[in-house]
Amino acid sequence: MRIAVLAGDGIGPEITAQAVRVLEALAGNGLALELEYGAVGGAGYDAAGDPLPAATLALCERADAILFGAVGAPRYDRLERALRPEQGLLRLRKHFDLFANLRPAVVYPELAHASTLRPDVVAGLDLLIIRELTSDIYFGKPRGVIVNEAGEREGYDTMRYTEGEIRRIAVTAFETARKRARRVCSVDKANVLETTQLWRDVVSEVHADYADVELSHMYVDNAAMQLIRNPRQFDVMVTGNMFGDILSDEASMLTGSIGMLPSASLNAKGYGLYEPIHGSAPDIAGKDLANPLGTILSTAMMLRYSLGQEQAAARVEGAVRAALRDGARSADIARDGEPTLGTVAMGDAVLARL
Ligand code: NAD
Repeated sequence: MRIAVLAGDGIGPEITAQAVRVLEALAGNGLALELEYGAVGGAGYDAAGDPLPAATLALCERADAILFGAVGAPRYDRLERALRPEQGLLRLRKHFDLFANLRPAVVYPELAHASTLRPDVVAGLDLLIIRELTSDIYFGKPRGVIVNEAGEREGYDTMRYTEGEIRRIAVTAFETARKRARRVCSVDKANVLETTQLWRDVVSEVHADYADVELSHMYVDNAAMQLIRNPRQFDVMVTGNMFGDILSDEASMLTGSIGMLPSASLNAKGYGLYEPIHGSAPDIAGKDLANPLGTILSTAMMLRYSLGQEQAAARVEGAVRAALRDGARSADIARDGEPTLGTVAMGDAVLARL
């Protein structure tokens, strides 16, 4: 199993290095993993004048999955748009047709205090949001700003989904639910929007092949409310690009720290790009302060969803859980006055328990 490791910029190399140590430990323990490294983002621009150098793309083509750190730094902000670091990520998503964005929101009992919600509401939360990533009102045409007949400026965008686009994200949701608690909640606004009535119809049709998974439907306004009222009622939530954009950020904050959260972006073949949800954090880069757990947990998702190594995935998650249980805390998840670990020491704490 070949993994393309793209560390990127800012804290990217620091957090990725800790995830690589975890993968190397698994490889030393009999898992057939091979890691290859490529430059991306600002690092790609520095190395080859391109945020996604041809050599990096070729490396990803050869690989079974991509481990991605983070991209972006203030010194690249004045480059023309096509050369900016984030283009490296956007082009990878497009090239590999990574239409399914999986974002778990897990609250470890020891970290329930870090949420802005009461611990009794969030403790033990284990929710997965699946957001469609390549269609919807963000890409629909026509769109624009015109001057209308009344002489007023008028803006418009088009919400569109094809049956096929809905079908494949629904399949991802049901297949993923089979690896979890087998419950899918599909979020739409079918009472008002035609496009999402089609969404509801197609998701229900696909469900016919998944009788072992429970399906419910919820309007997006209610879903936004229920995420705050009682988030533990959900297992897998599947929704379109715009609703998913908003709900997944809402859900991530239930957990308290951005440094803890992994993500996956998958295509129809199960090929995926795995990355923590945060950015390159220039304010703490190079200081051994970043929390590497979101990246380490991204490797667990990679083992589960692209490499079919459920046991190894569970081992990594178990090691993270044990480190937290034993009191390992980086600065972002510590309570006032609690002793903290740097990036490398947090990696040590996970490895020791792996
Ligand atoms: P950010 O996620 O990088 O940082 C937001 C805040 O969270 C900062 O205070 C940072 O120190 C903290 N933080 C982030 N990750 C952390 C970690 N692992 N441990 C501890 N603290 C952590 O967002 P930003 O500051 O808005 O953006 C910084 C750069 O990252 C920008 O160039 C932006 O374009 C880029 N970015 C990249 C990605 C990506 O690569 N996928 C995503 C978002 C932003």
